[in-house]
Amino acid sequence: MSLSIYPVLCNAGFMDNYAYLLVDDTTGISAVVDAAEEQAIIDFCEKKNIVPQFILTTHHHEDHTNANLALKKRYGLKIAGSAIEKNLIDGLDIPLEDGDIFKLGETQARIILAAGHTNGHILWYFEKEKALFTGDVLFNLCIGGLFEGTPEQMWQSLQKIKALPDDVRFYPGHEYTSLTPAALQNPAFVPYLQFLENCRRNNLPPVGNMLGLEKQCNPYLKIADKDDFINKMR
Ligand code: ZN
Ligand code: FE
Repeated sequence: MSLSIYPVLCNAGFMDNYAYLLVDDTTGISAVVDAAEEQAIIDFCEKKNIVPQFILTTHHHEDHTNANLALKKRYGLKIAGSAIEKNLIDGLDIPLEDGDIFKLGETQARIILAAGHTNGHILWYFEKEKALFTGDVLFNLCIGGLFEGTPEQMWQSLQKIKALPDDVRFYPGHEYTSLTPAALQNPAFVPYLQFLENCRRNNLPPVGNMLGLEKQCNPYLKIADKDDFINKMR
């Protein structure tokens, strides 16, 4: 059982969103995570000869959903996303709740509700394949802003991510890698910098880093005390 994951940079230079093309290798069944830009996704699908059957939405924001209806029309696909945001996600067919299982061919994702950025934001967790799609909750070395939720909700959401195994790879919704000068000096960041450098050298987007490394380096995940986190967010 394996899952191929292809990042597609969308809204380049504007929002720098990542959409992802997923293919269940056993059945060939495929999906787009966050339909951020119609043309970039279509071009990639044509290049790879992929006809997506689903869109897997992390949250309702327009920069993650604006190609929903166009792709639905073109491919006849079904759109899955958070039940809490069912009236906000264009074309939603499959509303999902916290803990639900979504089957993509022979692989499957568990839905993890992660409120804070939006009230119904979900994470897509392919447990066996060790892949987590974090939308606008977790980025490389930073987190998403609080558009709808409270700092407490974001804290809870980050604790859910921290509870996942260190060898899970995570795939953020934007290229917002946030490297401060202090981080560049910090020896704890050496493996992180190696990861970024390795991606750069191979001309790959810097996604799919290990959660274990993120837990050690992301300043928001490193905070152990809830009140300290809430103060930092205020
Ligand atoms: Zn967003
Ligand atoms: Fe976004």
